Amino acid sequence: MMTTETNNAMNKIQIFDTTLRDGEQSPGASIAPERKIIIARQLAKLGIDVIEPGFPVSSPGEFAAVQQISRELQGVEIAGFARAVKGDIDAAVRATEDAARRRLHLFISSSDIHLNHQLRKSRDEVIQIARDMVAYGKQFVEEIEFSAMDSTRSGRDFVIQLVEAVIAEGATIINLPDTLGYALPHEVIDLFQAVRKEARGGDTVRYSAHCHNDLGLAVANSIAAIQGGATQIEVTVNGIGERAGNCSLEELVMAIETRKDALHVGTNINIGEIYETSRLVSRTMNFPIAYNKPIVGRNAFQHESGIHQDGLLKNRNTYEIMDPEAMGISRSMIILGKHSGSHAIKHRLSEYGVVMTAEQLRDVYNQFKELADRQKIVTDDELIRIAGDLTKTQPNPLELIDLNVHAGTQRSRSATVTIRENSSGAEKSYMAIGEGPLEAVIQAIGQAIPQSVEFEDLELHSLSTGEDAHGEAVVSIIYKGKRFRGSSIHKDIVLAAAQAYISACNQAMMTVEIV
Ligand code: MN
Repeated sequence: MMTTETNNAMNKIQIFDTTLRDGEQSPGASIAPERKIIIARQLAKLGIDVIEPGFPVSSPGEFAAVQQISRELQGVEIAGFARAVKGDIDAAVRATEDAARRRLHLFISSSDIHLNHQLRKSRDEVIQIARDMVAYGKQFVEEIEFSAMDSTRSGRDFVIQLVEAVIAEGATIINLPDTLGYALPHEVIDLFQAVRKEARGGDTVRYSAHCHNDLGLAVANSIAAIQGGATQIEVTVNGIGERAGNCSLEELVMAIETRKDALHVGTNINIGEIYETSRLVSRTMNFPIAYNKPIVGRNAFQHESGIHQDGLLKNRNTYEIMDPEAMGISRSMIILGKHSGSHAIKHRLSEYGVVMTAEQLRDVYNQFKELADRQKIVTDDELIRIAGDLTKTQPNPLELIDLNVHAGTQRSRSATVTIRENSSGAEKSYMAIGEGPLEAVIQAIGQAIPQSVEFEDLELHSLSTGEDAHGEAVVSIIYKGKRFRGSSIHKDIVLAAAQAYISACNQAMMTVEIV
Protein backbone atom coordinates (compact mmCIF):
# COMPACT_ATOMS: atom_id res chain seq x y z
CA MET A 1 0.00 0.00 0.00
CA MET A 2 1.28 3.46 -0.84
CA THR A 3 1.76 5.90 2.01
CA THR A 4 0.33 9.37 1.70
CA GLU A 5 3.83 10.73 1.43
CA THR A 6 4.96 8.69 -1.58
CA ASN A 7 1.58 9.29 -3.10
CA ASN A 8 2.11 13.04 -2.79
CA ALA A 9 5.60 12.81 -4.21
CA MET A 10 4.30 10.89 -7.21
CA ASN A 11 1.66 13.48 -7.86
CA LYS A 12 3.95 16.51 -7.88
CA ILE A 13 4.15 18.26 -11.24
CA GLN A 14 7.60 19.69 -11.93
CA ILE A 15 7.51 23.28 -13.13
CA PHE A 16 10.14 24.05 -15.78
CA ASP A 17 10.48 27.78 -16.36
CA THR A 18 11.68 29.07 -19.72
CA THR A 19 10.92 32.78 -19.20
CA LEU A 20 14.59 33.60 -19.78
CA ARG A 21 14.84 31.50 -22.97
CA ASP A 22 11.52 31.11 -24.82
CA GLY A 23 10.01 34.08 -22.97
CA GLU A 24 12.88 36.27 -24.00
CA GLN A 25 11.98 35.44 -27.59
CA SER A 26 8.79 37.52 -27.22
CA PRO A 27 8.72 40.29 -29.76
CA GLY A 28 9.01 43.43 -27.64
CA ALA A 29 10.41 41.78 -24.51
CA SER A 30 14.01 42.56 -23.79
CA ILE A 31 16.51 41.95 -21.06
CA ALA A 32 20.26 42.42 -21.02
CA PRO A 33 21.92 39.04 -20.34
CA GLU A 34 23.62 40.37 -17.20
CA ARG A 35 20.23 41.27 -15.71
CA LYS A 36 18.82 37.75 -16.09
CA ILE A 37 20.13 36.83 -12.66
CA ILE A 38 17.59 39.23 -11.07
CA ILE A 39 14.70 37.24 -12.51
CA ALA A 40 16.40 33.88 -11.90
CA ARG A 41 16.74 34.66 -8.17
CA GLN A 42 13.03 35.42 -7.95
CA LEU A 43 12.19 32.21 -9.86
CA ALA A 44 14.19 30.27 -7.27
CA LYS A 45 12.28 32.02 -4.49
CA LEU A 46 9.03 31.13 -6.26
CA GLY A 47 9.97 27.45 -6.03
CA ILE A 48 10.59 26.65 -9.71
CA ASP A 49 12.03 23.12 -10.14
CA VAL A 50 14.00 23.68 -13.36
CA ILE A 51 15.20 26.98 -14.88
CA GLU A 52 16.21 27.35 -18.52
CA PRO A 53 18.22 30.57 -18.35
CA GLY A 54 19.03 31.08 -22.03
CA PHE A 55 20.54 29.67 -25.19
CA PRO A 56 24.28 29.42 -24.39
CA VAL A 57 25.60 29.13 -27.96
CA SER A 58 23.71 32.18 -29.20
CA SER A 59 26.04 34.87 -27.81
CA PRO A 60 28.86 35.38 -25.29
CA GLY A 61 26.46 37.38 -23.08
CA GLU A 62 23.94 34.54 -23.08
CA PHE A 63 26.68 32.04 -22.25
CA ALA A 64 27.88 34.18 -19.33
CA ALA A 65 24.31 34.61 -18.02
CA VAL A 66 23.68 30.85 -18.03
CA GLN A 67 27.02 30.32 -16.32
CA GLN A 68 26.37 32.92 -13.62
CA ILE A 69 22.90 31.51 -12.87
CA SER A 70 24.30 27.95 -12.75
CA ARG A 71 26.93 29.06 -10.23
CA GLU A 72 24.70 31.10 -7.98
CA LEU A 73 21.42 29.17 -7.84
CA GLN A 74 22.56 25.90 -6.36
CA GLY A 75 19.09 24.89 -5.17
CA VAL A 76 17.51 24.74 -8.64
CA GLU A 77 18.13 22.41 -11.57
CA ILE A 78 19.50 24.27 -14.60
CA ALA A 79 18.69 23.31 -18.20
CA GLY A 80 21.27 23.96 -20.93
CA PHE A 81 19.40 24.50 -24.19
CA ALA A 82 20.88 23.20 -27.47
CA ARG A 83 19.93 22.26 -31.00
CA ALA A 84 20.99 18.74 -31.93
CA VAL A 85 24.37 20.10 -33.04
CA LYS A 86 27.76 19.50 -31.38
CA GLY A 87 28.67 23.19 -31.06
CA ASP A 88 25.39 23.94 -29.25
CA ILE A 89 25.82 20.96 -26.94
CA ASP A 90 29.41 21.92 -26.10
CA ALA A 91 28.32 25.45 -25.18
CA ALA A 92 25.37 24.23 -23.09
CA VAL A 93 27.54 21.66 -21.29
CA ARG A 94 30.24 24.21 -20.48
CA ALA A 95 27.83 26.97 -19.44
CA THR A 96 26.05 24.71 -16.92
CA GLU A 97 29.20 22.96 -15.63
CA ASP A 98 29.07 24.53 -12.15
CA ALA A 99 25.36 23.88 -11.51
CA ALA A 100 24.58 21.67 -8.51
CA ARG A 101 22.03 19.85 -10.67
CA ARG A 102 21.70 20.21 -14.41
CA ARG A 103 20.30 18.74 -17.55
CA LEU A 104 20.93 19.09 -21.24
CA HIS A 105 17.85 20.07 -23.25
CA LEU A 106 18.21 18.95 -26.86
CA PHE A 107 15.70 19.48 -29.62
CA ILE A 108 15.09 18.55 -33.22
CA SER A 109 11.97 18.78 -35.31
CA SER A 110 9.78 15.76 -36.00
CA SER A 111 7.15 17.14 -38.38
CA ASP A 112 7.28 16.50 -42.12
CA ILE A 113 6.68 20.20 -42.76
CA HIS A 114 9.84 21.09 -40.86
CA LEU A 115 11.83 18.13 -42.24
CA ASN A 116 10.97 18.85 -45.87
CA HIS A 117 11.06 22.62 -45.91
CA GLN A 118 13.42 23.67 -43.13
CA LEU A 119 15.84 20.88 -42.22
CA ARG A 120 15.73 19.25 -45.68
CA LYS A 121 16.41 15.87 -44.13
CA SER A 122 14.70 12.50 -44.34
CA ARG A 123 13.11 10.88 -41.31
CA ASP A 124 15.97 8.35 -41.16
CA GLU A 125 18.53 11.13 -41.18
CA VAL A 126 16.73 12.93 -38.35
CA ILE A 127 16.66 9.76 -36.26
CA GLN A 128 20.38 9.27 -36.83
CA ILE A 129 21.21 12.85 -35.84
CA ALA A 130 19.05 12.61 -32.72
CA ARG A 131 20.72 9.32 -31.71
CA ASP A 132 24.23 10.66 -32.28
CA MET A 133 23.63 13.91 -30.43
CA VAL A 134 21.91 12.32 -27.42
CA ALA A 135 24.81 9.87 -27.18
CA TYR A 136 27.27 12.73 -27.52
CA GLY A 137 25.60 14.80 -24.76
CA LYS A 138 25.22 11.77 -22.51
CA GLN A 139 29.03 11.58 -22.16
CA PHE A 140 28.89 14.85 -20.22
CA VAL A 141 25.46 15.06 -18.62
CA GLU A 142 23.36 12.29 -17.11
CA GLU A 143 19.98 13.97 -17.36
CA ILE A 144 19.00 14.48 -21.00
CA GLU A 145 15.71 16.10 -21.99
CA PHE A 146 14.83 15.52 -25.61
CA SER A 147 12.24 17.65 -27.41
CA ALA A 148 10.55 16.50 -30.61
CA MET A 149 9.76 19.96 -31.95
CA ASP A 150 6.32 20.40 -33.59
CA SER A 151 5.39 16.96 -32.25
CA THR A 152 1.66 17.72 -32.33
CA ARG A 153 1.80 18.22 -36.11
CA SER A 154 4.06 15.20 -36.68
CA GLY A 155 3.22 11.70 -37.84
CA ARG A 156 2.42 9.67 -34.74
CA ASP A 157 4.48 6.64 -35.84
CA PHE A 158 7.51 8.80 -36.50
CA VAL A 159 7.32 10.54 -33.12
CA ILE A 160 7.21 7.11 -31.46
CA GLN A 161 10.16 5.89 -33.54
CA LEU A 162 12.21 9.00 -32.70
CA VAL A 163 11.39 8.79 -28.99
CA GLU A 164 12.38 5.11 -28.93
CA ALA A 165 15.69 5.95 -30.56
CA VAL A 166 16.62 8.70 -28.08
CA ILE A 167 15.54 6.63 -25.07
CA ALA A 168 17.86 3.88 -26.30
CA GLU A 169 20.71 6.41 -26.30
CA GLY A 170 20.00 7.59 -22.76
CA ALA A 171 17.39 10.39 -22.93
CA THR A 172 15.65 10.57 -19.53
CA ILE A 173 12.90 13.13 -20.15
CA ILE A 174 10.76 13.28 -23.28
CA ASN A 175 9.21 16.64 -24.12
CA LEU A 176 6.39 16.69 -26.68
CA PRO A 177 5.94 20.36 -27.60
CA ASP A 178 2.93 21.93 -29.23
CA THR A 179 5.34 24.35 -30.87
CA LEU A 180 2.73 26.23 -32.88
CA GLY A 181 -0.16 26.12 -30.43
CA TYR A 182 -2.17 24.00 -32.85
CA ALA A 183 -3.34 21.01 -30.81
CA LEU A 184 -6.66 20.47 -29.07
CA PRO A 185 -6.70 19.11 -25.51
CA HIS A 186 -8.06 15.66 -26.35
CA GLU A 187 -5.37 15.24 -29.01
CA VAL A 188 -2.68 16.08 -26.45
CA ILE A 189 -3.97 13.46 -24.00
CA ASP A 190 -3.98 10.92 -26.82
CA LEU A 191 -0.43 11.77 -27.99
CA PHE A 192 1.09 11.40 -24.51
CA GLN A 193 -0.78 8.19 -23.80
CA ALA A 194 0.24 6.67 -27.14
CA VAL A 195 3.94 7.55 -26.85
CA ARG A 196 4.14 6.33 -23.26
CA LYS A 197 2.50 3.05 -24.16
CA GLU A 198 3.88 2.31 -27.60
CA ALA A 199 7.49 3.54 -27.58
CA ARG A 200 9.96 0.87 -26.43
CA GLY A 201 11.31 2.00 -23.06
CA GLY A 202 8.50 4.55 -22.88
CA ASP A 203 7.72 3.59 -19.31
CA THR A 204 11.30 4.24 -18.13
CA VAL A 205 11.38 8.01 -18.74
CA ARG A 206 9.53 11.13 -17.57
CA TYR A 207 7.31 13.24 -19.84
CA SER A 208 7.06 16.97 -20.33
CA ALA A 209 4.81 19.38 -22.26
CA HIS A 210 5.70 22.72 -23.84
CA CYS A 211 2.56 24.36 -25.19
CA HIS A 212 2.18 27.60 -27.10
CA ASN A 213 -0.86 29.81 -26.87
CA ASP A 214 -1.73 30.66 -30.48
CA LEU A 215 -5.31 29.49 -30.01
CA GLY A 216 -5.48 30.38 -26.32
CA LEU A 217 -5.17 26.69 -25.42
CA ALA A 218 -1.69 26.52 -23.87
CA VAL A 219 -2.92 26.05 -20.29
CA ALA A 220 -5.72 23.67 -21.30
CA ASN A 221 -3.28 21.62 -23.37
CA SER A 222 -0.75 21.52 -20.52
CA ILE A 223 -3.43 20.18 -18.19
CA ALA A 224 -4.37 17.65 -20.87
CA ALA A 225 -0.70 16.59 -20.98
CA ILE A 226 -0.81 15.97 -17.21
CA GLN A 227 -3.90 13.84 -17.74
CA GLY A 228 -1.98 11.98 -20.44
CA GLY A 229 0.89 11.25 -18.04
CA ALA A 230 3.26 14.25 -18.23
CA THR A 231 4.91 15.09 -14.90
CA GLN A 232 6.69 18.25 -16.06
CA ILE A 233 5.19 21.37 -17.63
CA GLU A 234 7.22 24.09 -19.32
CA VAL A 235 5.93 27.57 -18.58
CA THR A 236 6.82 31.25 -18.67
CA VAL A 237 5.93 34.02 -16.25
CA ASN A 238 2.97 36.05 -17.60
CA GLY A 239 2.82 33.56 -20.50
CA ILE A 240 5.40 35.50 -22.53
CA GLY A 241 7.19 33.83 -25.45
CA GLU A 242 7.26 33.48 -29.22
CA ARG A 243 4.15 34.98 -30.90
CA ALA A 244 1.15 34.57 -28.56
CA GLY A 245 3.46 33.10 -25.93
CA ASN A 246 3.72 29.98 -23.81
CA CYS A 247 1.70 28.29 -21.11
CA SER A 248 1.41 30.92 -18.38
CA LEU A 249 3.03 29.89 -15.10
CA GLU A 250 0.53 31.63 -12.86
CA GLU A 251 -2.52 30.34 -14.74
CA LEU A 252 -1.31 26.73 -14.77
CA VAL A 253 -0.23 26.74 -11.13
CA MET A 254 -3.46 28.32 -9.95
CA ALA A 255 -5.57 25.95 -12.08
CA ILE A 256 -3.78 23.03 -10.43
CA GLU A 257 -4.12 24.62 -6.98
CA THR A 258 -7.75 25.69 -7.35
CA ARG A 259 -8.93 22.42 -8.93
CA LYS A 260 -6.81 19.90 -7.05
CA ASP A 261 -10.10 18.23 -6.12
CA ALA A 262 -10.38 17.16 -9.76
CA LEU A 263 -6.76 17.02 -10.92
CA HIS A 264 -5.20 15.30 -7.88
CA VAL A 265 -1.75 16.83 -8.45
CA GLY A 266 0.29 19.61 -6.84
CA THR A 267 3.38 21.74 -7.46
CA ASN A 268 6.29 23.05 -5.38
CA ILE A 269 5.41 26.67 -6.16
CA ASN A 270 5.16 29.21 -3.32
CA ILE A 271 1.86 30.79 -4.27
CA GLY A 272 2.65 33.90 -2.20
CA GLU A 273 5.46 34.88 -4.61
CA ILE A 274 3.33 34.73 -7.78
CA TYR A 275 2.40 38.40 -7.99
CA GLU A 276 5.84 39.72 -7.15
CA THR A 277 7.35 37.45 -9.82
CA SER A 278 4.85 38.61 -12.41
CA ARG A 279 5.52 42.29 -11.69
CA LEU A 280 9.27 41.82 -11.67
CA VAL A 281 9.25 40.09 -15.06
CA SER A 282 6.94 42.71 -16.54
CA ARG A 283 9.12 45.58 -15.28
CA THR A 284 12.50 44.04 -15.97
CA MET A 285 11.64 42.85 -19.48
CA ASN A 286 9.55 45.92 -20.36
CA PHE A 287 6.57 43.79 -21.23
CA PRO A 288 3.16 44.96 -20.01
CA ILE A 289 0.46 42.67 -18.62
CA ALA A 290 -3.00 42.83 -20.20
CA TYR A 291 -5.62 44.28 -17.83
CA ASN A 292 -7.80 41.19 -18.18
CA LYS A 293 -4.97 38.64 -17.89
CA PRO A 294 -6.08 35.89 -15.47
CA ILE A 295 -4.49 35.93 -12.00
CA VAL A 296 -2.07 38.85 -12.47
CA GLY A 297 -3.95 41.31 -14.70
CA ARG A 298 -5.10 44.36 -12.81
CA ASN A 299 -8.78 43.52 -13.40
CA ALA A 300 -8.40 39.87 -12.40
CA PHE A 301 -9.95 40.42 -8.96
CA GLN A 302 -11.87 43.62 -9.52
CA HIS A 303 -15.62 43.52 -9.52
CA GLU A 304 -17.68 46.23 -11.09
CA SER A 305 -21.24 44.90 -10.99
CA GLY A 306 -23.19 46.19 -7.99
CA ILE A 307 -24.76 42.76 -7.45
CA HIS A 308 -21.34 41.11 -7.35
CA GLN A 309 -19.96 43.80 -5.02
CA ASP A 310 -22.83 43.32 -2.61
CA GLY A 311 -22.29 39.54 -2.62
CA LEU A 312 -18.55 39.91 -2.05
CA LEU A 313 -19.01 42.16 0.95
CA LYS A 314 -21.23 39.48 2.48
CA ASN A 315 -18.96 36.55 1.59
CA ARG A 316 -15.94 36.49 -0.71
CA ASN A 317 -16.79 33.03 -2.02
CA THR A 318 -19.92 34.35 -3.69
CA TYR A 319 -17.96 35.68 -6.64
CA GLU A 320 -14.32 34.62 -6.19
CA ILE A 321 -12.72 31.20 -6.70
CA MET A 322 -9.24 32.28 -5.52
CA ASP A 323 -7.94 34.52 -2.76
CA PRO A 324 -5.75 37.21 -4.36
CA GLU A 325 -3.98 37.95 -1.07
CA ALA A 326 -2.65 34.37 -0.99
CA MET A 327 -0.75 35.21 -4.20
CA GLY A 328 0.60 38.45 -2.84
CA ILE A 329 -1.97 40.65 -4.59
CA SER A 330 -3.18 43.45 -2.35
CA ARG A 331 -6.92 43.39 -2.14
CA SER A 332 -8.86 46.07 -3.94
CA MET A 333 -11.55 43.75 -5.19
CA ILE A 334 -14.15 46.39 -5.63
CA ILE A 335 -13.73 48.99 -8.30
CA LEU A 336 -15.85 52.01 -7.56
CA GLY A 337 -17.84 53.17 -10.54
CA LYS A 338 -21.34 53.79 -11.76
CA HIS A 339 -22.39 50.22 -11.02
CA SER A 340 -21.42 50.43 -7.35
CA GLY A 341 -24.06 50.49 -4.63
CA SER A 342 -24.09 52.55 -1.41
CA HIS A 343 -23.05 49.48 0.57
CA ALA A 344 -19.73 49.40 -1.33
CA ILE A 345 -19.20 53.15 -0.85
CA LYS A 346 -19.78 52.89 2.88
CA HIS A 347 -17.42 49.94 3.10
CA ARG A 348 -14.66 51.70 1.18
CA LEU A 349 -14.88 54.83 3.32
CA SER A 350 -14.73 52.73 6.48
CA GLU A 351 -11.48 51.20 5.25
CA TYR A 352 -10.01 54.69 5.57
CA GLY A 353 -11.56 55.28 8.95
CA VAL A 354 -14.23 57.61 7.56
CA VAL A 355 -17.51 57.01 9.37
CA MET A 356 -20.63 58.93 8.34
CA THR A 357 -24.23 59.27 9.34
CA ALA A 358 -26.87 57.71 7.07
CA GLU A 359 -27.79 61.18 5.84
CA GLN A 360 -24.19 62.17 5.05
CA LEU A 361 -23.69 58.88 3.30
CA ARG A 362 -26.71 59.50 1.09
CA ASP A 363 -25.27 62.85 0.02
CA VAL A 364 -21.84 61.34 -0.64
CA TYR A 365 -23.49 58.60 -2.67
CA ASN A 366 -25.41 61.08 -4.83
CA GLN A 367 -22.28 63.10 -5.61
CA PHE A 368 -20.33 59.92 -6.19
CA LYS A 369 -22.92 58.78 -8.75
CA GLU A 370 -22.72 62.07 -10.63
CA LEU A 371 -18.96 61.81 -10.84
CA ALA A 372 -19.11 58.11 -11.82
CA ASP A 373 -21.48 58.92 -14.68
CA ARG A 374 -18.94 61.39 -16.06
CA GLN A 375 -15.75 59.36 -15.69
CA LYS A 376 -16.77 55.71 -15.18
CA ILE A 377 -14.25 55.00 -12.41
CA VAL A 378 -13.96 56.96 -9.16
CA THR A 379 -10.64 56.70 -7.35
CA ASP A 380 -10.43 56.34 -3.57
CA ASP A 381 -8.86 59.75 -3.43
CA GLU A 382 -11.82 61.35 -5.18
CA LEU A 383 -14.30 59.53 -2.94
CA ILE A 384 -12.51 60.71 0.17
CA ARG A 385 -12.45 64.25 -1.15
CA ILE A 386 -16.25 64.17 -1.69
CA ALA A 387 -16.71 62.91 1.86
CA GLY A 388 -14.32 65.57 3.18
CA ASP A 389 -16.10 68.41 1.35
CA LEU A 390 -19.48 67.34 2.72
CA THR A 391 -18.32 66.96 6.31
CA LYS A 392 -16.06 70.01 6.08
CA THR A 393 -13.15 67.97 7.40
CA GLN A 394 -10.52 66.78 4.99
CA PRO A 395 -9.46 63.24 5.92
CA ASN A 396 -6.71 63.05 3.27
CA PRO A 397 -3.41 63.83 5.03
CA LEU A 398 -1.81 65.46 1.97
CA GLU A 399 -3.14 67.57 -0.87
CA LEU A 400 -1.46 68.75 -4.05
CA ILE A 401 -1.99 72.52 -4.27
CA ASP A 402 0.23 73.44 -7.18
CA LEU A 403 2.47 71.80 -9.75
CA ASN A 404 4.89 73.50 -12.11
CA VAL A 405 7.02 71.68 -14.63
CA HIS A 406 9.69 72.76 -17.07
CA ALA A 407 10.38 70.37 -19.92
CA GLY A 408 11.89 70.72 -23.36
CA THR A 409 15.14 70.28 -25.25
CA GLN A 410 17.14 72.81 -23.25
CA ARG A 411 18.91 72.13 -19.95
CA SER A 412 17.54 69.80 -17.30
CA ARG A 413 13.87 69.34 -16.57
CA SER A 414 12.62 70.67 -13.28
CA ALA A 415 9.46 70.51 -11.20
CA THR A 416 8.10 72.49 -8.27
CA VAL A 417 5.25 71.12 -6.17
CA THR A 418 3.29 72.75 -3.38
CA ILE A 419 1.70 70.37 -0.92
CA ARG A 420 -0.62 71.05 2.00
CA GLU A 421 -0.64 69.00 5.16
CA ASN A 422 -4.33 69.02 5.96
CA SER A 423 -3.93 68.38 9.68
CA SER A 424 -1.94 71.57 10.29
CA GLY A 425 -2.87 73.51 7.16
CA ALA A 426 0.83 74.09 6.46
CA GLU A 427 1.77 74.49 2.77
CA LYS A 428 5.30 73.88 1.58
CA SER A 429 6.98 73.93 -1.82
CA TYR A 430 9.67 71.59 -3.06
CA MET A 431 11.78 71.70 -6.18
CA ALA A 432 13.70 68.93 -7.97
CA ILE A 433 15.32 68.19 -11.31
CA GLY A 434 15.28 65.00 -13.36
CA GLU A 435 16.14 63.57 -16.75
CA GLY A 436 12.52 64.04 -17.70
CA PRO A 437 9.56 65.96 -16.28
CA LEU A 438 8.08 62.85 -14.64
CA GLU A 439 11.29 62.05 -12.84
CA ALA A 440 11.50 65.64 -11.62
CA VAL A 441 7.92 65.50 -10.29
CA ILE A 442 8.49 62.17 -8.54
CA GLN A 443 11.67 63.56 -6.94
CA ALA A 444 9.94 66.75 -5.79
CA ILE A 445 7.02 64.90 -4.20
CA GLY A 446 9.51 62.50 -2.65
CA GLN A 447 10.81 65.41 -0.56
CA ALA A 448 7.34 66.33 0.64
CA ILE A 449 6.18 62.96 1.92
CA PRO A 450 7.43 60.91 4.90
CA GLN A 451 10.86 59.42 4.33
CA SER A 452 9.58 55.96 5.17
CA VAL A 453 7.53 55.91 1.93
CA GLU A 454 9.39 53.96 -0.70
CA PHE A 455 8.51 54.79 -4.30
CA GLU A 456 8.24 51.53 -6.23
CA ASP A 457 6.79 51.96 -9.67
CA LEU A 458 4.97 54.31 -12.04
CA GLU A 459 2.82 52.99 -14.88
CA LEU A 460 1.34 55.25 -17.54
CA HIS A 461 -1.50 54.31 -19.85
CA SER A 462 -3.05 56.20 -22.66
CA LEU A 463 -6.80 55.74 -22.39
CA SER A 464 -7.78 57.35 -25.65
CA THR A 465 -6.38 59.39 -28.49
CA GLY A 466 -7.62 62.41 -30.33
CA GLU A 467 -8.92 65.64 -28.87
CA ASP A 468 -10.31 64.13 -25.69
CA ALA A 469 -7.15 62.19 -24.84
CA HIS A 470 -6.82 61.13 -21.21
CA GLY A 471 -3.87 59.50 -19.55
CA GLU A 472 -3.96 57.26 -16.53
CA ALA A 473 -1.12 57.05 -14.03
CA VAL A 474 -0.73 54.30 -11.42
CA VAL A 475 1.90 54.68 -8.70
CA SER A 476 2.85 51.93 -6.26
CA ILE A 477 4.67 52.61 -3.03
CA ILE A 478 5.78 50.58 -0.04
CA TYR A 479 4.91 51.96 3.40
CA LYS A 480 5.72 50.09 6.61
CA GLY A 481 6.08 46.83 4.72
CA LYS A 482 2.78 47.13 2.83
CA ARG A 483 2.21 47.98 -0.82
CA PHE A 484 -0.25 50.71 -1.82
CA ARG A 485 -1.34 51.82 -5.26
CA GLY A 486 -2.80 55.15 -6.20
CA SER A 487 -4.25 56.01 -9.58
CA SER A 488 -5.40 59.13 -11.32
CA ILE A 489 -6.82 60.08 -14.70
CA HIS A 490 -6.21 63.45 -16.32
CA LYS A 491 -5.63 65.04 -19.70
CA ASP A 492 -2.21 66.08 -18.39
CA ILE A 493 -0.28 62.87 -17.77
CA VAL A 494 2.31 64.61 -15.60
CA LEU A 495 -0.40 65.93 -13.29
CA ALA A 496 -2.03 62.48 -13.26
CA ALA A 497 1.28 60.96 -12.12
CA ALA A 498 1.62 63.54 -9.30
CA GLN A 499 -1.94 62.95 -8.11
CA ALA A 500 -1.53 59.17 -8.24
CA TYR A 501 1.62 59.40 -6.11
CA ILE A 502 -0.08 61.61 -3.51
CA SER A 503 -3.12 59.33 -3.55
CA ALA A 504 -0.97 56.27 -2.81
CA CYS A 505 0.67 58.13 0.10
CA ASN A 506 -2.69 59.23 1.49
CA GLN A 507 -4.06 55.68 1.34
CA ALA A 508 -0.94 54.36 3.04
CA MET A 509 -0.93 56.88 5.84
CA MET A 510 -4.66 56.62 6.52
CA THR A 511 -4.79 52.84 6.41
CA VAL A 512 -1.70 52.24 8.50
CA GLU A 513 -2.72 54.79 11.12
CA ILE A 514 -6.08 53.11 11.65
CA VAL A 515 -4.54 49.68 12.23
MN1 MN B 1 8.67 27.38 -27.54
